[in-house]
Amino acid sequence: MYRIGIDLGGTNIAVGVVNEQYEIVSHTSVPTLAHRSPEAVIADMGDAVQAALDQAGLTAGNCASIGVGSPGTCDSGRGVVVRAYNLGWYEVPVCQMLTDRFGIPARLSNDANCAALAEYVAGAGVGCRNMVLITLGTGVGGGIIIDGKIYAGMRSAGAELGHTVLVLDGEPCTCGRRGCWEAYASATALIRQTGQAALAHPDSALAAIPAQDINGRTAFDAADRGDAAAQAVVDRYCEYVAAGLTDLVNALAPERILLGGGISRQGERLLGPVREYVATHCFGQREGAIPVIAAAKLGNEAGIIGAAAL
Ligand SMILES: [Zn+2]
Repeated sequence: MYRIGIDLGGTNIAVGVVNEQYEIVSHTSVPTLAHRSPEAVIADMGDAVQAALDQAGLTAGNCASIGVGSPGTCDSGRGVVVRAYNLGWYEVPVCQMLTDRFGIPARLSNDANCAALAEYVAGAGVGCRNMVLITLGTGVGGGIIIDGKIYAGMRSAGAELGHTVLVLDGEPCTCGRRGCWEAYASATALIRQTGQAALAHPDSALAAIPAQDINGRTAFDAADRGDAAAQAVVDRYCEYVAAGLTDLVNALAPERILLGGGISRQGERLLGPVREYVATHCFGQREGAIPVIAAAKLGNEAGIIGAAAL
């Protein structure tokens, strides 16, 4: 049997049909145009599913299920997007609407959980039973797999790992709290830290870069060229990431922690210091339950594969 995966984003809806090995056999994408009603967006989503099926020479009858990965708060039990601010969706029964059209079961989870599930079934998590995926992007997203299943908690509201406090009364966070891990370990936070270092060290290479050109690579690149202020930013940023991961190790002792999102492209420059910190700070230190810490593997395809695997 095949499965259909839908990666619903604020800008695009990507749809794929996957085979039993979780390989994408056909793929389509349409703009979300989120200013429209949910009904209009879901009608286009359905057309994209049909196009992906046609492209693969399949019908819905060849597929076991449809899965949707959505931003925002998703109630997986009811198949309802409870609220997704960037789509303007409130209480949208997306699963029922897709089942009505295609006649097969539909499942829903949020995009971070789908990405974790994708890594578990087809990426860097294959072969373990308990793992956590952390995405270091605009925010810090998290997905927890326990005993082969997404752990999402009551009303699927859990695994908001970016919104655990790292610094009491610290930097303001988008969620309304202060000092969240996300406010220190996201790409957004790294850009802020880089900008602050540029102002504090006028003799550094960072100070020569216009503020609007600073991105998540700037400090890593300048550190590579030997800039001391940039190296200090990178070192501290790696500690922020690693301190949060150490809390996860102490709470869950997963077999693997995978890092995804834009900053994870730094590879060993991030992973090396993070592994060392976790090994020397987790409960029991080097004799503790130290997980494998590695980069996520699937990139853009994770959304479709994880949704299909729901
Ligand atoms: Zn927060």
